[in-house]
Amino acid sequence: MSVVTSVCCYCGTGCGVLIEAESGKITGVRGDPAHPANRGRLCTKGATLHLAAAASGRARVPELRRDKGAPRERVDWETALDHAADRFRRIIREHGPDAVAFYISGQLTTEAYYVFNKLAKGLIGTNNVDTNSRLCMSSAVAGYKATLGADAPPGCYDDIESAGTLFVAGSNPAYAHPILFRRIEDARRANPDLRLIVVDPRRTDTAAEADLHLAILPGTDVALYHAMLNVMLWEEWIDRAFIAAHTDGWAALRDRVRDYTPEKVAPICGVPVADIVQAARWFAQGPTLSLYCQGLNQSSCGVDKNAALINLHLATGQIGRPGAAPLSLTGQPNAMGGREVGGMANLLSAHRDLDNPAHRAEVARLWGVEAVPERPGRTAVELFEAVRRGEIKAVWIACTNPAQSLPDQNRVHEALQAAECVVLQDAYADTETAAYADVLLPASTWGETDGTMTNSERRIARVRAAVPPPGEARADWAIATAFARRLDPARGPRLFPYATAEAVFNEHRETTRGRDLDITGLSWEMLDSGPQQWPFPAGAAAGQVRLYGDGVYPTGSGRARFHAAPYRQVAEPIDARYPLHLNTGRMRDQWHAMSRTGRVARLFAHVDAPRLAMNPSDLERRRLKDGDLVRVKSRRGEVVVAAEASEAIRPGQCFLPMHWGARFMGGHGVNALTLPLFDPASKQPELKHAAVQVARA
Ligand code: SF4
Repeated sequence: MSVVTSVCCYCGTGCGVLIEAESGKITGVRGDPAHPANRGRLCTKGATLHLAAAASGRARVPELRRDKGAPRERVDWETALDHAADRFRRIIREHGPDAVAFYISGQLTTEAYYVFNKLAKGLIGTNNVDTNSRLCMSSAVAGYKATLGADAPPGCYDDIESAGTLFVAGSNPAYAHPILFRRIEDARRANPDLRLIVVDPRRTDTAAEADLHLAILPGTDVALYHAMLNVMLWEEWIDRAFIAAHTDGWAALRDRVRDYTPEKVAPICGVPVADIVQAARWFAQGPTLSLYCQGLNQSSCGVDKNAALINLHLATGQIGRPGAAPLSLTGQPNAMGGREVGGMANLLSAHRDLDNPAHRAEVARLWGVEAVPERPGRTAVELFEAVRRGEIKAVWIACTNPAQSLPDQNRVHEALQAAECVVLQDAYADTETAAYADVLLPASTWGETDGTMTNSERRIARVRAAVPPPGEARADWAIATAFARRLDPARGPRLFPYATAEAVFNEHRETTRGRDLDITGLSWEMLDSGPQQWPFPAGAAAGQVRLYGDGVYPTGSGRARFHAAPYRQVAEPIDARYPLHLNTGRMRDQWHAMSRTGRVARLFAHVDAPRLAMNPSDLERRRLKDGDLVRVKSRRGEVVVAAEASEAIRPGQCFLPMHWGARFMGGHGVNALTLPLFDPASKQPELKHAAVQVARA
């Protein structure tokens, strides 16, 4: 038996795993005691990775259909890649480079992300490369950049043990980041004075553990944080010396929050005045570590929510020291790595900005191409809408399932149907998206591929192959490389010379030189001996555990910026026809669209089917009872699902898990209901809220 060190491929906690393999098969998985993120522990999802690896449904051979409507047929790799290259070349020649697009994934390795980004922006000349991280972290990215100047989470997991107050907002780590939650529980056992505040409309398992649960009405976070700042001002909890020395924009924010008294905000948020005051005091006393996730990000004002929370850290000087930091939790294993290589429609390599001409010139030089196009690419929702309208004619999808995960599914399915060419590169052949693929390229996945991933605390870890991939599946970076060489035989081989993931990593590393995430001091060999945090510039002995301890921010002026946006309500308020707030989220033992966890019987022991959780009073009002089938309807679509009476949900709200899609519940799953409106700055859609009606089915 061989044992190979790698990391879990689910959430952004980034737990280290030891993969056991025998005779070319993965036979077991254990937590890696040497990995600092989990110290040997795994949650139920991580502990069953070997079962998911052995399950059926894998894509094993390339498949192709030359005509829409015809069944796909098995072909060899040469035929599949040549066909895709011909189609893309013709469309680019006839309609320009922006007529093609790539939609990739926070589950890819950093190296695969890097190759796709260079392929689109450097070789083809389109910025139409976006990712499912747009649905996950783009508001956190924009929030960090607006306030601190760079997309760099300042804190680390060790801050959990150093904090005096943990402020968990829009996040249920008990389900979504279970090993971090174990760490929170341990820290509270070791230090009974460690306070836990949870801001969440639902009484989740995390909220049930809290000393103070602020069950705010959906989407009212900004009003809450402004009210907390109002209290801090009134009670003189503000760190005026820190504000004067290290920040800009204080006067505008101070004037903004004057009107956000706890008395005015309490009815907006639906929480008592006393709880707002208590939260403000505990936050200000600190040291405070904020942990936050999709409740802040998946919102039409997600950037304002992120920034309003970071305001509190800056106003109280709760940043850059042990136990004091804002720390966004990434939903996917490598949303961070994708951001590092700029694998989104508005970003460039190593945290450079597309709208900065100097940055575009730098990246063009590093890549050895004439130019990087200036025009921003289409972001996730925009991208598929452009496909639907026929403006984008070919889309290449890698390692993600937009036919279930994007909002307003009817339109997404129309888009996939309308596309001239859909190429799907995936480990699984039976996802909702696979039905639309004209070309299906089998990809390797967890336990079969080499590369790196970065977790929520900026820690880069090696992922390793323990077994060869099944059938003819290949590594994602290698598929993108092979396509690039075929697409442009004159330039492709020179620009994409990679023979190994390490070669891609080395090129990526060079692009970080002098940037905030500089990793020029890291090597593949060093990562082989253990994960490392960035930045790790040449000459450094170790990565940087915390950022901004020196009070200097990467903003140009060196000073952090307060963000004074007002509170805005959800994009689709409830009304008489659609009177219930729909919230969406994760279950403990499932992950994303269940391509992987949906194949492991043991993972259905916790929750075996999707249910619409509602307050018993709302069921009673509709003469419904627990277990009844209900029709949940929004302005965009409907689903039929069993109702579940739950005191965890406040009256007037309901909750449906994000995981179950067409394969499990018919229709399109929860995203038949969600709306495609997004934050104007981050372009992240408001997956966390829609107005719905519920009636007996
Ligand atoms: Fe995997 Fe996240 Fe569970 Fe760790 S907490 S084992 S990374 S799913």
